[in-house]
Formats: sequence, C-alpha cells, structure tokens
Amino acid sequence: KAKQLIDRLEAQHSLSIEEYEYLIENQSDELAAYAAEKAVALRKQVYGTDVYIRGLIEIGNICRNDCYYCGIRRSNPACDRYRLTEAQILDCAREGYTLGFRTFVMQGGEDSAFSVDVVCHLVRQIKAEFPDCAVTLSLGEFPREAYQAMFDAGADRYLLRHETADKAHYEKLHPAQMSFDNRMRCLRDLKDIGYQTGCGFMVGSPYQTAQTLAEDLKFIEEFRPEMCGIGPFIPQKDTPFRDFPAGTCEQTVYLLSLLRLIQPNLLLPATTALGTIRPDGRERGLQAGANVVMPNLSPLGVRKKYALYDGKLCTGEEAAQCIGCLSRRVASVGCRIVTARGDIIR
Ligand code: SAM
Repeated sequence: KAKQLIDRLEAQHSLSIEEYEYLIENQSDELAAYAAEKAVALRKQVYGTDVYIRGLIEIGNICRNDCYYCGIRRSNPACDRYRLTEAQILDCAREGYTLGFRTFVMQGGEDSAFSVDVVCHLVRQIKAEFPDCAVTLSLGEFPREAYQAMFDAGADRYLLRHETADKAHYEKLHPAQMSFDNRMRCLRDLKDIGYQTGCGFMVGSPYQTAQTLAEDLKFIEEFRPEMCGIGPFIPQKDTPFRDFPAGTCEQTVYLLSLLRLIQPNLLLPATTALGTIRPDGRERGLQAGANVVMPNLSPLGVRKKYALYDGKLCTGEEAAQCIGCLSRRVASVGCRIVTARGDIIR
C-alpha cells in the first residue's frame, strides 16, 4: 500500500493528510529507497544534474525571540552576541562573488538594529554592486509594509520556516509571545508581494508526531512555496530542549524525497544541520532529491557564535575551502555545482 501511495504522489503530487501520515508511519529503508529513486528522477527532469549554491551570511545573532530550541534565543546568556557591519557583509558578498556565488542569503536573529531602513540600504548596496545576483533574506517576522519595502529595495527571496503547521505544536516550541497565526500571515504576505518564498521545518523537533508532519506536508502541498528548508532538529546545550534527541538523517532524507514528489520544481536544500548529524548527510540529501547547498560565507570569527545547535559543521573553514570540499561531495553523487542565480524553474 505504501508504494502505491508513493506512485500516486509521483503522478498527482497530492495525498490526503491521512495518507501522508501513513507514509510517515510506515517509513522503511526499502520504501525510502523507492521514494528517493522517483524523487531523483523528477529532480533530473526539472534541474538536470545542476546543484545551486547559496552563500549564507549570518549577519547577527542578537534576537528578541525566545524559541525553546534555538541557541541564539534571547534568554541564553551563554550566547556570545555579534552583529556584522554593512562593510563586513559587503566583504562577504565580494568574496562569495569571486568564488562563484550568485545568491546571497542574509540570515540572522530578529534584531531591531537591522531595521527596515538598514536592511533596505544593505539590499540596495548588494544589488547595485552585483546586479546579476539574487538576494535572499531570512530575518524573521516583519509587518507586511516592511516586507514590501525590502522587496522594492531589490530583495528577491525570503526564507521563513513555518516550523510546524500544527498550531498546538507551534505553541510547544515557542513561548506565548510568539504567534503561529502571525508566522502564517508573514508567509502569505511574502508570497503575495512576489518574493520567491521559502517555508520549512525541523525534522524530529520535540513533540513532533506523524500527524504534525503530515500536516506540514499538506501545508507545503497547498502553499506551494518556491523553496523549502528542512533539516534535523539538533539539541543545543544552553536551551530548554537540550535533553531532547536529535532528528535522524533517515527521516530527513525520506521527507526530502516526499517533498520532491509533492512539488517537482521545489528548491530543496541539503542543509548544514543534515551534514552535522552525519558526515555524508548532505550527499544523502542530494541522493534523496535535494538540489541546493548553502555554504557559509560569514567571517570566520563569528561562525562559532551563530550556534543555533551543537556541533555545527564548517565553523573553522574558509569559504573557499568549503566550496572546494562541497564541489567534490556534490560530484561524488553525480551532480555538479553551477554558477547561477538558481531561480525556480517553472
Ligand atoms: N530568525 C530568523 C527566523 O526565525 O526565521 C532566521 C534565523 S533562525 C535561527 C533559522 C532556523 O534555524 C529556524 O527557522 C529553525 O528552524 C532553525 N533552528 C534553530 N534552532 C535549531 C536547532 N536546535 N536545530 C536545528 N535547527 C534549528
């Protein structure tokens, strides 16, 4: 029955929540291999063997939010805070451009110093210096007008993981001041404004169930994002969730395959978190249907400070070393890194 559901998902790109739940509960090595084979075939139809790279610039770890899972949450006094200057961010982009990056992702905590005006100025600078590059923002929740201003300044894409599509689950992962409805409002606004929009969730987050995961898959099927970031939850030692187990590589790659079957042209990263829980995690992600990798371009001195979870990969490596290592890893699974903006193919 499970294989029949995979066949139907491949053909129709849609299942009921109950059917998604069945697929999640009945995961096996054999079923995952079956789904991965179909997922990779679909990826090839749309993207060939191309893998897109995104230069990740972690612009700061100061955050007003207090997500229970996250190492840069407000009430973590052990977090060594930093904020990059505009000049530092531009230098990261320059180095990245030389290395072949044509997308820059600026990610950070929700820091009021990165106001709408500051972000807009930064986006304009980058777009002026690198008109052939895409700018992706991942700076959390803002009012619609702020997203609009950043878009008008030239931002092309926005990543905002929905974290979970189940409201009760969302409330177990976040303190009462944070709102599921506002997060969903943000995602709708982003899409409506015209951003290439990315949602996503952690695999194996505390209190996650087959039911909540099925809701995530249904949400993604209906929302139709351009990008979807999923990676394992990894505990961080200074957070309330320090004692919860990490998500698994097996479940993450299985879900990557299901997402590819749901939406064949989805931009789907093999995340750093996946490479952190398993040395060949990102290769396995690509072999399951992912088509994006996001190496770190942040200055070496701050990489360890952007500690969302323990054991993060590549915190000591130059960007150039990272890209060399990744190119080999990507080639080892029959794909190749390309120098391109890497927009979604419709
Ligand atoms: N503040 C922005 C936001 O909320 O979208 C961007 C930065 S936030 C740190 C980026 C993502 O990191 C979150 O969406 C979350 O899914 C992920 N993350 C945080 N803590 C994590 C952990 N312990 N393990 C794995 N991923 C984690």
